[in-house]
Amino acid sequence: MTDCIFCKIINGEIPNAKVYEDDKVYAFLDISQVTPGHTLLVPKKHVCDIFEYDEHLASEVFSRLPKIAKALQQALPDMKGLNILNNNREIAYQTVFHSHIHLIPRYQEKEGFQLEFTNNQDNYQTEEFQALAQKINHNFE
Ligand code: AMP
Ligand code: ZN
Repeated sequence: MTDCIFCKIINGEIPNAKVYEDDKVYAFLDISQVTPGHTLLVPKKHVCDIFEYDEHLASEVFSRLPKIAKALQQALPDMKGLNILNNNREIAYQTVFHSHIHLIPRYQEKEGFQLEFTNNQDNYQTEEFQALAQKINHNFE
């Protein structure tokens, strides 16, 4: 896509710090460096978000995660953990609309990145909970 910043990075049209490349994916340091080593993994094929993937593309892209995670661990021995995050659409904090997966090394509890889940367990009756699962599950039949 001509007007896409990540397509331009993949094509070498704008400067970037490449971490890994093969025929299907490209990985480079996120310019914001939320924590040192913060990396983005992107498919070379331009897709906006997860809703444009099929199983084949997903296996090409997501299968690269373990080796990039291990390379980060090797390169950054102080890294104690790793968050892997994929934002889809604006409401979910996506700002660049070429699908990408964040790999965010963690060194300590309080640092540039925080993720908080609200526990709403008490707001659900058992039947309501099961009905919600059923509603989703029907789409695979
Ligand atoms: P998201 O909010 O999930 O869409 O993440 C987009 C990410 O792309 C942000 O973390 C930005 O810092 C990063 N980003 C934007 N432009 C560049 C660039 N030219 N090089 C590297 N990372 C970039
Ligand atoms: Zn693109």
